[in-house]
Amino acid sequence: MKIDGKTKVFAVFGQSTAHSMSPIIHNASFRNLGINCIFIGLSSPSDKLDIAFAGMQTLGIKGAAIILPYKVEAMKYCTDVDLMAKQIGAINTICFKDDERIIGYNTDAQGAAKAILNVSSIKDKNILMLGAGGAAKAIGFQMGVEKAKSLTIANKTFEKAFELSDQISDIFEHRIKTFATGISKEELTQTLFNTDILINTTSIGMNSNETIITADMLRQDMVVFDIVYTPYKTRLIQDAEKVGAKIVHGADMLIYQAMEQERIWLRVKPSFEVMKQYLMKQLNSDIRIKSV
Ligand code: NAP
Repeated sequence: MKIDGKTKVFAVFGQSTAHSMSPIIHNASFRNLGINCIFIGLSSPSDKLDIAFAGMQTLGIKGAAIILPYKVEAMKYCTDVDLMAKQIGAINTICFKDDERIIGYNTDAQGAAKAILNVSSIKDKNILMLGAGGAAKAIGFQMGVEKAKSLTIANKTFEKAFELSDQISDIFEHRIKTFATGISKEELTQTLFNTDILINTTSIGMNSNETIITADMLRQDMVVFDIVYTPYKTRLIQDAEKVGAKIVHGADMLIYQAMEQERIWLRVKPSFEVMKQYLMKQLNSDIRIKSV
C-alpha cells in the first residue's frame, strides 16, 4: 500500500476503536482495489464530539464509519442526513464532502438484509428481534422495507422495545405488525413458536459464551441470525447449528455494510471475498491469542 501526501484518509470513529474490525476489512479492500486510501481508528470522549467532528473535517478526513455509542448523536454534526437514516434515527457512515457538507447515512440496514437474503426471503416472514439499541433501529426498519409480516422486538428494557415497535409501525403505516415483549424464557418461548427468522441485535454473546436463547428453544425450520461477530460462531450460532437451523453470521452483515460504505465514499465496487478473507484471518488469530 503506497502512502503519500495524496493518500485519502478514512476512519472508524467511536468512544473506543482499538478492537474494531473496520480497519482490517477496509484496508484489505483498498489494497485490492489499488486505490490510494488508508483506513484508521479515531476515538473521542462524548464531551468532545464537536471538536472531533470539526477536526476530522478540517484535517481532510474523507469519510468515517460511526460506531457505538455515537450512532444517534453523530447526526447532530451532519449538515444533511440521508432520508432512510433519518427515518431509522441513527447513522453509521459519514461522508465529508469537499464543499464542506457532512452527510450521514445508515448502511447497517442494507447490510443486515443482504446477509439474510443469502439464505432466506424476508417478505411475509415473522421476525423476532432481540434488542432495541442502535443496530436494532436499523434492522427493524429494514424488516419493514423488506415487507416482513410481523416484527416482535424483545428487549431487557421493555420501554425501549415498545418505543421502537411503535416507531416502526408508524413509519410503515401499520403494514407490518409490530409487537414488544420482555426477554424472560416464557415470553421468548411463546414468540419463538411462531418465528421464522430470529435476529440477535443485543451485545449478548460478544466475546463471551452467553445466550438468552438456548438450543431447546430453536427449530430446524428457522433462520437464526446473530449480528455479533466476535467470536465468528457465537453460542447462539453454535446452538442453531446443533438443531440444523439456517444460519446468518454477523461477519457477513459487517462486510455488506462496509461494502456499501465504500460505494458511498468512493463509488467503487469492493470484493466481498477479499474483505471476508482478511476478517476471518483476524478473527482466527484473535481466537489463537486468547487460547494461548
Ligand atoms: P447498543 O445500541 O448499545 O444496544 C445494545 C442492546 O443490547 C440493547 O438492546 C440492550 O438492552 C441489549 N443488552 C445489552 N446487554 C444486555 C444483557 N446483559 N442482557 C440483555 N440485553 C442486553 O449496541 P448496538 O450498536 O445496537 O450493537 C449491539 C451489538 O451488535 C454489538 O455487539 C455490536 O458489536 C454488534 N453490531 C454488529 C454489526 C455487524 O455489522 N455485524 C453492526 C452493528 C452492531 P437495553 O436497551 O435493555 O440496555
